Amino acid sequence: MGVELINYGRAAIAEFLGDRIVYRGLEPYDKSLPPLEALRRAAGLAPEVLPRKNEADYARVVMHLLQACQEQDQPGGRIERLVFVGDTRLLDGTAYENLCRVSGWSGRAFICAEDGDPPATCWAAAEQNQPIMLANRWAALAQFDRECAQLGHPIGAGTAVVFDMDKTLVGARGRNARVIDQSRMQAVEQTVGDLLGKDFDPVVFRRIYDPLNQPEFHPFTTDNQDYLAYICLVLGNGLIDFADLTRRIRSDELASFEAFLDEVEARKGALPERLAALHEEIRQRVQAGDPTPFKAFRRNEYLLTRQRFGCLSAAAAMVEMLAEEILITQEARCMAHKWRREGALLFGLSDKPDEASIPDEEHRAQGWTPLHQAETHAVGEAGFEIEQVDRSILVMPQP
Ligand SMILES: [Mg+2]
Repeated sequence: MGVELINYGRAAIAEFLGDRIVYRGLEPYDKSLPPLEALRRAAGLAPEVLPRKNEADYARVVMHLLQACQEQDQPGGRIERLVFVGDTRLLDGTAYENLCRVSGWSGRAFICAEDGDPPATCWAAAEQNQPIMLANRWAALAQFDRECAQLGHPIGAGTAVVFDMDKTLVGARGRNARVIDQSRMQAVEQTVGDLLGKDFDPVVFRRIYDPLNQPEFHPFTTDNQDYLAYICLVLGNGLIDFADLTRRIRSDELASFEAFLDEVEARKGALPERLAALHEEIRQRVQAGDPTPFKAFRRNEYLLTRQRFGCLSAAAAMVEMLAEEILITQEARCMAHKWRREGALLFGLSDKPDEASIPDEEHRAQGWTPLHQAETHAVGEAGFEIEQVDRSILVMPQP
């Protein structure tokens, strides 16, 4: 049983969030908010520490950010309730539980993965007894809103609403999420292809990338796409053999990505000059603790992802839109507008690296925008028309 979807026209996340978003680097895009350095101090973190989404320190930084937003909107006003909207029980659920714990706010979360089963929702209790509604339709956000009000948790003044961005606000899980993964995979392929030049074979590339991207090899790659792109590059060059590599990973002979880097280091004399220089750059960044050391890949990921926003005409068939374009989740957009009208403060979290989300100076000068300002089609079930768009916070994309 398919979900009946409607094209609601073009929109951008900035239409309801403004610039109130952080990408993985936790640096607020809205420069009127405290910079990460100040947030770290407020949260009691050491300089240079960049917590990940599942860590309590991440929740501390986000709590201070939300309080700074509240202070701008309503000086002296307090946040009492939290609402978290996401797509993964484990990662978003953990971020939500941590945020409830460090802040003491009463919370409700909505986690959705759409599927073809009949619509169903259930309330589950998180660790601290903070309720989470699990749903298999994004349209269940309306029910979530009603039940929150009935359960004494109205979403309005005094409520901070945190939206996960990737596969929630855009590329909804179970509906449109594959396009996000495809853009990233294309970025790996294009980056490796450009660097290998005439030695690049797309068939060989897929034979290397697809298996190494599977959970079996996550302990080795740490599911880091920068590492994976680098491994594909070295294997595509022929310096190290794929079958031999997987055998040694499986037998624990090669235990970590760092050990792989050392191995390439010992044999780098056999690499063409350009690849040897890139290897050196990546090795140094990994040693310095940079989680996204392959800058050229992340740059391509930004360009290819950004190009998937609003890439089709309004006349495109729905099946084509779902498969080709990164779409805004209309149900989330509609509820965001409603909650904002009722006085809630809204904030967006993205786990995408900043380099894959925000243009560099050169592209910015050409009019490229960060992903949250990019216009694309908003798609959702019937009944989620927007009553009125508050134009006061609209940060429109540059032409
Ligand atoms: Mg997500």
